[in-house]
Amino acid sequence: MITLLHVDGRDCPVVVCDWCGERIEKGSDGNCEWLADAEGQPLLGVAVDCRGRPIAGPLFFAHKHCSRPCEKRNGHSLFQGLDVFLFHLERNCSFDRRSTKRIADLLMRL
Ligand SMILES: [Zn+2]
Repeated sequence: MITLLHVDGRDCPVVVCDWCGERIEKGSDGNCEWLADAEGQPLLGVAVDCRGRPIAGPLFFAHKHCSRPCEKRNGHSLFQGLDVFLFHLERNCSFDRRSTKRIADLLMRL
């Protein structure tokens, strides 16, 4: 899940593994996953984590080492590497990295 971590008086967005509950600190260590039917069509629904607790979809985030054991519990899933997923999200949102960085840097100084 994407959530907020409170650090030094600031709320920082982070990605947490839906399967183990730990923060995914490097994009290259994570996946964005979704359940799919046999034809590869996305399924909306609820998956369960490694402890059997329900997790609402449709997108899940996981460490790469957590993905395989949990896939066995939830059936077929598709995925993108977290770094690739974020790249596509950025592009699909017409994200302007340069102007957004200026705004983020300004907000960090407040
Ligand atoms: Zn994990």
